[in-house]
Amino acid sequence: MPYQSPVGEFRFILDAVVPLAPLAATERFGEATPDMVEAILEGAGRMCDEALAPLSRVGDQTPTRLENGVVRSAPGFKAGFSAIADGGWVAVAASAEHGGMGLPQTLNMVVNDMMSGACLALQLNALLTQGQIEALEHHASDEIKNLYLPKLISGVWSGTMNLTEPQAGTDVGALRTKAEPLDDGSYAITGQKIFITWGDSDLTENVCHLVLARLPDGGPGTRGISLFMVPKFLPDADGNPGVANTLKVVSLEHKMGLHGSPTCVMAYEGAKGWLVGEKHKGLAAMFTMMNNARLAVGVQGVGVAEAAYQMALDYARERNQMGPIINHADVRRMLATMKAEVFAARAIALGCAVALDMGRATGEADWAARSALLTPIAKAYGTDVGMAVSETCVQVHGGMGYIEETGAAQFYRDVRVTAIYEGTNGIQAMDLVGRKMMDGGEAAFRLLQEVEDNAEAARAMLPQLAGDVWAAAETLREATEVLLAQGMEDRFAGAVPYLRAFARILGGHYHLRAAVAEGGKGPRSALAAVYIRRLMPQYAAALAEAREGAEGLFALSPEDLAH
Ligand SMILES: Cc1cc2nc3c(=O)[nH]c(=O)nc-3n(C[C@H](O)[C@H](O)[C@H](O)COP(=O)(O)OP(=O)(O)OC[C@H]3O[C@@H](n4cnc5c(N)ncnc54)[C@H](O)[C@@H]3O)c2cc1C
Repeated sequence: MPYQSPVGEFRFILDAVVPLAPLAATERFGEATPDMVEAILEGAGRMCDEALAPLSRVGDQTPTRLENGVVRSAPGFKAGFSAIADGGWVAVAASAEHGGMGLPQTLNMVVNDMMSGACLALQLNALLTQGQIEALEHHASDEIKNLYLPKLISGVWSGTMNLTEPQAGTDVGALRTKAEPLDDGSYAITGQKIFITWGDSDLTENVCHLVLARLPDGGPGTRGISLFMVPKFLPDADGNPGVANTLKVVSLEHKMGLHGSPTCVMAYEGAKGWLVGEKHKGLAAMFTMMNNARLAVGVQGVGVAEAAYQMALDYARERNQMGPIINHADVRRMLATMKAEVFAARAIALGCAVALDMGRATGEADWAARSALLTPIAKAYGTDVGMAVSETCVQVHGGMGYIEETGAAQFYRDVRVTAIYEGTNGIQAMDLVGRKMMDGGEAAFRLLQEVEDNAEAARAMLPQLAGDVWAAAETLREATEVLLAQGMEDRFAGAVPYLRAFARILGGHYHLRAAVAEGGKGPRSALAAVYIRRLMPQYAAALAEAREGAEGLFALSPEDLAH
């Protein structure tokens, strides 16, 4: 059976697990009524199932090509992107002022989840365009906003993000691309960028590049970087694509997966660009957008995991080996684990999105701190789940999983990069234990208190599950106190296991809420038991590792590692 958007699952989560209702009660998001939510779920779900899902295999089997310097996308991708654009799905959360729907990011993430499950390679184009829209909304001059936003929001033009250079990956501050002021107030951008997703496309009339570069008076490191809008075609007096800018795609990378999405080496050769935001503050401008992009990449992991789970479930029902394989305990274990993980990662991501929206709607600092805390967890756990579930999908298929014909392996190849781009998962974990704990753990402790209160309230109905979640939250509270007393190097050494433990316990929390919502008996409660009794206990091992600090790791020198 082809991919089917899990519309009912979103309905349940937004109703009972991370309720959207408080958001709809705010002035800013008053339009997010149950009717509107239903229309979004149904409309986007149908578009994903009908227009996008058939393209995923096509993109894998007919990779994008570079022809005379121009990217040619896979057959059907243009129509697929039009379906996204025409439905308004690029701009669910973009401001209504320039043609967006002005709805909460939470609904945008729901749509991104479905688009990612249907066709990740194409969704990536919309995702980057969304990021660019957000960066422009917050930082661009009115002139740039009026010129670019309506075209980006309607999907007539698309957007890219240009940070990475050969010597500047995680260390963005090492970038060398230059920007020189021109007499007319614009800038000449010169340099090479690598790994630029959808750096060119035949899906849209223009491709707008947001490029990080250094002005002549920009100091070294991250503080001297500025952000520029550098379009493929310079807009003419009427705002239509005019003459070609002096930039080009040098080559496309050959990748492990995501063959439908071109990953470009870009050369900017004195290309004309316009400053976005303040001089030397480009990285900060990029970061306002990158937080949402991080959450959205976590959601990509969830979407792919959903699709991989659906495929594995179908196969397990049909394949017979001493009876249908779905009846073997180990296969049942794999399927139940996949389903439980997808639910947990999705709830964490949507919990983060609701906090983000509540922060924006109410201006309350606690909500902003909550979403900031949850963002690295949602990104890393969502993409870890994407990898783990798609890997298990291969295993459920047995030998057929390793044969490309089934499409099972594609999920794993495609999703693998989500743990790498938009800040590797290691960097996310360091963000959690570093920057996100600069409040002395206040946001984390507040969240853990809610987890414990929720567990207390569930104790009468589900004593064992509630007790397990309560005890886990208490252990995490103690581990967080230990972490806060550690130096940064020790924290960083344990960052990844600490983040994983945090995610496990939040997963248990949301599963418990789901079980309570159905009265403590039924399939959601059974799934909650699978998660809380079988998967959540991994937190203890993860915290044991997190407490170990750095010393033991550095006891092995590079020379020791070589022997
Ligand atoms: C398919 C694909 C699409 C991409 N799309 C885009 C795009 O559209 N725009 C764009 O600008 N970039 C894009 N990227 C680049 C991507 O964001 C980078 O690959 C990523 O930021 C990591 O940088 P790097 O590859 O140089 O790895 P490195 O920075 O060299 O990292 C290598 C390893 O070292 C670790 N590491 C590095 N520094 C530290 C540190 N300080 N502490 C602890 N660990 C550290 C990393 O976690 C990683 O495990 C894309 C990459 C790929 C593969």
